[in-house]
Amino acid sequence: MKLEFQSAPRPADLDLSQWMDWTWQLRASLKTKADFASYFELSSEETHAFEKGSEIFNVRATPYYASLASQKAAQDPIRRILMPHEKELFDPSQSQLDPLGERKASNHPTSRIVHRYSDRVLFLITDICSVYCRYCTRKHFTGSDQAFVKKNEYEDALAYIKKTTGIREVILSGGDPLTVSDGQLERVLHDLRSIDHVEIIRIGSRMPVVAPMRMTDDLVRIIKKHKPVFLMTHFNHPRELTQEAVEALDRVVDNGIPVMNQMVLLNGVNNHAAIVQALSRRLLFLRVKPYYMFQCDPSIGTDYLRTTIEDSLEIQKELWGHLSGLAMPNLSVDIPNGGGKVYYSPQFETEVSAQGRKFTGWDGVQAEYINPDPTSIIKPLDYELYLDEWNHLRASKNQLNRE
Ligand SMILES: *Cc1c(COP(=O)(O)O)cnc(C)c1O
Repeated sequence: MKLEFQSAPRPADLDLSQWMDWTWQLRASLKTKADFASYFELSSEETHAFEKGSEIFNVRATPYYASLASQKAAQDPIRRILMPHEKELFDPSQSQLDPLGERKASNHPTSRIVHRYSDRVLFLITDICSVYCRYCTRKHFTGSDQAFVKKNEYEDALAYIKKTTGIREVILSGGDPLTVSDGQLERVLHDLRSIDHVEIIRIGSRMPVVAPMRMTDDLVRIIKKHKPVFLMTHFNHPRELTQEAVEALDRVVDNGIPVMNQMVLLNGVNNHAAIVQALSRRLLFLRVKPYYMFQCDPSIGTDYLRTTIEDSLEIQKELWGHLSGLAMPNLSVDIPNGGGKVYYSPQFETEVSAQGRKFTGWDGVQAEYINPDPTSIIKPLDYELYLDEWNHLRASKNQLNRE
């Protein structure tokens, strides 16, 4: 079977050059009930959400992304991602303003930095997204104020990264860091690259999904110039992989920028092994490594989109063995209150002893791994060459502000 990708259905009265201009997509975004009602047949639950919830949560979708959703079926997976629903207003079972504890002072050394792991930080350079996903973990914070971070907050963030020498990696996030202008992004990348201890920069963006025309030649040139920069995309459903997205990803990968995808398992959107495999295989074919498959965070008003951990484990177990390891994302849960990430993998071990371990593999084959004589274990002759580096990395934990 040949994998095929379709163009998004551009409205007939729209000029292609306008449609393919990302700034037009941002300017022409659907924001109000009237905007959405002019394109979608709104259900009563959706209408109520606009009427009662508009001050609570932001709503926005690019015309491009809206065109991927069904105009009629309220249960359509992509529609569930972008369309507000009455259920967002119900009191959920575990509702947290800040499910990952990102606003806790200890994790939040400056207003724009989140520092939870010793060697890497999030740098939130904007509050704006071009689509407000209904399941967003920062639902209460995105869309609020700033398009680009204020001067003093920017300088505080940069000063923190500079003085915290244990930081190896800076993850640009927000909001969506690719909603800022090329000039602003170039400045951020340039300033980060001038800090010697910053080795890796990541850009976490949903623009390749919701406005793939954002990945212009100019943008790709800017990112390439500041290598190594990893682009972390956020495709959740195979229907998001349009011909436009394919071309955007090609441009990025052809320029040597590695791309990884982080998906979130969502109720009635993608929580079936058939959908996850379809998404993951297509991503891999496009040279995008499926990296994380997240359990949805218990952010306020997201209960109706969350799945159970059991549902996620079932999907992972079904996929195991059938899907290339390259295409298999890591199932991960972010521990509420900023506990960090936990990984799951299917349990194949049936017995543990000092001599070895017994397994029943994914297709039922039973076998044993027998340990060599433990007294024969030696450490590599030259490990001391790397010991300073390793100790420095470990010591950077002390630069974290733990209560
Ligand atoms: C997820 C996350 C990271 C990145 O974790 P990786 O496992 O390296 O992808 C870094 N900082 C914070 C606060 C995070 O939530």
